Amino acid sequence: MKNSKGKEKTRAICRTCMISCGVFMEIVDGRVKSLIGDSDDPASHGYSCRRGRDIEGHLYGPNRILRPLQKDANGEFQSVSPQTAVSGIAERLSEIVDKHGPASVALYSGTYALAPPGGMVSGAFMDALGSPMSFSCGSIDQPGKLLARALHGKWHAGGTAFAEAETWLFIGTNPAVSGLGGVPTINPNWHLHRAVKRGIKLIVIDPRRSETAQKARVHLQPVPGEDATILAGMVRLVLAEGLEDKDFVAENGKNLEELRQHVEPFTPEFVEKRADIPADQLREATRIFANAKTGGASAGTGSNMSPRGTLAEYLLACLITLCGFRAKQGDRVPNPGVLV
Ligand code: SF4
Repeated sequence: MKNSKGKEKTRAICRTCMISCGVFMEIVDGRVKSLIGDSDDPASHGYSCRRGRDIEGHLYGPNRILRPLQKDANGEFQSVSPQTAVSGIAERLSEIVDKHGPASVALYSGTYALAPPGGMVSGAFMDALGSPMSFSCGSIDQPGKLLARALHGKWHAGGTAFAEAETWLFIGTNPAVSGLGGVPTINPNWHLHRAVKRGIKLIVIDPRRSETAQKARVHLQPVPGEDATILAGMVRLVLAEGLEDKDFVAENGKNLEELRQHVEPFTPEFVEKRADIPADQLREATRIFANAKTGGASAGTGSNMSPRGTLAEYLLACLITLCGFRAKQGDRVPNPGVLV
């Protein structure tokens, strides 16, 4: 609808990232001028971020690439047709594959490229090529997640829904800003705020008093690089105090005694000495976490990019399994996905 100054306000979805916030766009003479969050949107609740609000720059900025560019003999970029670009790339890739084999071609997908259909098409492309060398933002900055899952085993039903959880442990991650780690990615601060209001007990392990840590029931503020030590201490405490979900572990776990032996040296006092967090605070956090009926935990870039990041992810997976915080028969699945 246009107002008297010729401005038009249109309800839309921001497509700058895959979060897809519901927004209003202001359009003047056919050009998008600005964007604000739509407070009536049932998913994003009025949220918009700085990047989304810079839509005019994204759409009309002088550096935006609107057509394929290829370097000429002088090293200058020249505009070429999509057909020329695709044929040139195919020719060059064929030469490389013929000479060095399919694994000589690697593919890196950024965050947005992982969303459908980009992720599916790039996966199919690499399958057709016969190369296993696919990388992404996840494999670069959080490789421990995949390795730990391979070592620990994957629970195909997924985890507890954040909206249903009594407790949640965040380690080396700040979902209030990143929207990762189990909190719904769309307007994460709104969801965290609501969860705290309904009584969720957040435990945050982060050297920094992050935006998420400010909402925590317990904030463990260790020296950096000791996440695996802290998690080993939590696993040890759960086992030492008999707080594990015994039925779930008996049915789904194995090698419990080996795990117990490996974490035995990580007493609260040892963790205090090494990670610089009070032993009693570790006990408090562990008891809150393990005594909850439902919960979840997630590690982020902070843990994964620190020393022993894979071990931290593995111990976190052990902690979640020990507490039985896996989706079980009869649990509500908040977002089953449209294609499943
Ligand atoms: S998070 Fe920001 S960039 Fe992404 S859809 Fe929402 S407003 Fe747009």
